[in-house]
Amino acid sequence: MGRMRDAVEGWAGTHGAGEEGRDGDMNQWEALEIFEREGAVQKGHFLLTSGLHSDTYVQCARVLQHPHLAESLADELAKAFQPEEVDLVVSPALGGIIIGYMVAMALRIRMVFAERAKDRLALRRGQSVSRGERALIVEDVITTGGSVKELIELVEGAGASVIGLGALIERGEDRDFKVSKSVLLRLETSAWEAADCPLCRGGVKLEAPGSRKQA
Ligand SMILES: [Zn+2]
Repeated sequence: MGRMRDAVEGWAGTHGAGEEGRDGDMNQWEALEIFEREGAVQKGHFLLTSGLHSDTYVQCARVLQHPHLAESLADELAKAFQPEEVDLVVSPALGGIIIGYMVAMALRIRMVFAERAKDRLALRRGQSVSRGERALIVEDVITTGGSVKELIELVEGAGASVIGLGALIERGEDRDFKVSKSVLLRLETSAWEAADCPLCRGGVKLEAPGSRKQA
């Protein structure tokens, strides 16, 4: 897994308030160690939920199947936000549900999840966001940021506001969503449009481990 270590940027930390120099914080290496130990970091040729192809896939479910690990990671993400400043967590199904729920538990607030129907994320099952509410978006992996942007639109469309974004992993660049962002693990891994994918050109079989194409 040496390549994964190479792929991790220097501890990117969070963009929340007062995160520097705290004792007892989980750092990027500890988070990576958890993902590696649980076999969540896989090498091959993968179709990501975003539609991009990559040689690396991080299967968060390998880690989140252990509630105590989900709790530790969620507690760390929740530290960047103040419970009194957030009314609810909003996460995308399926990937964001477990970690979003655990972050909501850490903050003692409500959590709703949006599901993709006809290629749009929507709140179903009687879940809603009310006008004036302050939402924290929690995702498992940010790859292109497409789902996050959709969720921001969904929340703002309901007359609510997004006060922050938390994610276990962000792949590639440090994206600016104009909200306070907390990311546990930043990965520099290769991802390509299908037309530019060297693994496709090499004839390597494509796997689709994400939920959008298979759910
Ligand atoms: Zn490919």
